[in-house]
Amino acid sequence: MNEDTIAAIATALGEGSIAVVRVSGPEAVATVAKLFKSKQDLREAASHTVQYGWIVDPQSERRIDEVLVTVMKGPRSFTAEDVVEISTHGGIVAVKSVLELVLRHGVRLAEPGEFTKRAFLNGRIDLAQAEAVIDLIRSKSDRAFQVARRQAEGSVSKKIVPLRQRLIELIAHVEVNIDYPEHDVEDVTAELIRTDCRSVLAEVNELLQRSNEGKILREGIVTAIVGRPNAGKSSLLNALARENKAIVTDIPGTTRDIVEETVALSGIPLRLLDTAGIRETEDLVEQIGVERSHGALNDADLILLVLNRHEELHEDERKLLRQLKDRSTIVVVNKIDLPAKLEIGEIERDYPTERIVYLSAKEGQGIEQLEQAVTGMFFSGAVESGDITYVSNARHVALLHQTRQSLEDAIQATYEGVPIDLIQIDITASWESLGQILGDAAGDSLLDQIFSQFCLGK
Ligand code: GDP
Ligand code: ZN
Repeated sequence: MNEDTIAAIATALGEGSIAVVRVSGPEAVATVAKLFKSKQDLREAASHTVQYGWIVDPQSERRIDEVLVTVMKGPRSFTAEDVVEISTHGGIVAVKSVLELVLRHGVRLAEPGEFTKRAFLNGRIDLAQAEAVIDLIRSKSDRAFQVARRQAEGSVSKKIVPLRQRLIELIAHVEVNIDYPEHDVEDVTAELIRTDCRSVLAEVNELLQRSNEGKILREGIVTAIVGRPNAGKSSLLNALARENKAIVTDIPGTTRDIVEETVALSGIPLRLLDTAGIRETEDLVEQIGVERSHGALNDADLILLVLNRHEELHEDERKLLRQLKDRSTIVVVNKIDLPAKLEIGEIERDYPTERIVYLSAKEGQGIEQLEQAVTGMFFSGAVESGDITYVSNARHVALLHQTRQSLEDAIQATYEGVPIDLIQIDITASWESLGQILGDAAGDSLLDQIFSQFCLGK
């Protein structure tokens, strides 16, 4: 347990109807009790109850704010220590005054992520869960939020723990066989190692495969909208933005001056690359050339090729259709509210029907079909069920790759007549790298690096 008591503002700064100061540590209750005027002494309040009263400066007797105080006694709290949360009125003034008062009474300002770090150090959550809390704070879409929340609840850990269990049993088995060598024991052991390592490897591979889907949920699908002038690219962008008013955001590009617009399609963030600068170029081939040189089209995870159904296919469009057919391209046949002039058979030769979507950007018709096409292209279907475990954290993914390598090495070695006790080293390495996901034997520097990513008050 930590010796000192820490505090920070736990809610976002800025205007809101309430704000929360969180205090955690052995002196949390006693300290706040000194500053809290209420019918009942806070020190006598039962755990997990809320008290109404005022925060009053004991020196000047000045009333600071009318508040609700929640007491959560350890270990049944977020940090597993005694935690007191003071809900003040919103706005920066009230909450800062309360925090300052608390800090003048022997409590230290928490470092970013320190509450979560304590939860980890006190064994309340493992490292994968702690990292998920970071993702939770940062997630941009509903779906990403759900994934992070499930991870914070331990969905990744639940997958990893039994895999480690199987490996440790294998290690124990092999150990026994080394110690009591009988007739044929080498062959039996090699077979055992292959079977067990392969089954663990299969699950590690599945986690890695899913991690890519998780990455998409978290970071969004980089999407380029291309097509001839007047096909309806801007209209499609607007239609998508309209259907998703809440989530439209502008993110200035970090490396270039490209401005992105993020919309959520069935909860999946699409990062629409704004091709504004090149959108109105007359010459489509040149347009693509421009996009190329900017890398926008090349970097795109998804390409929406917009065609105008009210016109016959243009030679430029034929070129594009050919050029993009091996990419993740969805052909958007637009303007279905107008009479058809486009010969669709020609497109169907190169594109399966699930990659052709008919819509009217102007009337907002057919957007759901586009959603389905995108979901079908990027997810294995299970995304809807919601019970998938996504390993979405880069550190975890790297460790899973490391685990995979060690397991493959172990399997390979059994065929090469490598002595069993050397193969054992690979198996142990895979067990260790899985353990690092959970924070086993995590060094201080790793912990500092992880927890410093948090915002203050978490
Ligand atoms: P862009 O040059 O590809 O960005 O095309 P715009 O989105 O600017 O659209 C060109 C013209 O087509 C505009 O006059 C739009 O109102 C019109 N338009 C776009 N989508 C549709 C549609 O689905 N139906 C009809 N009837 N007109 C559309
Ligand atoms: Zn346009």
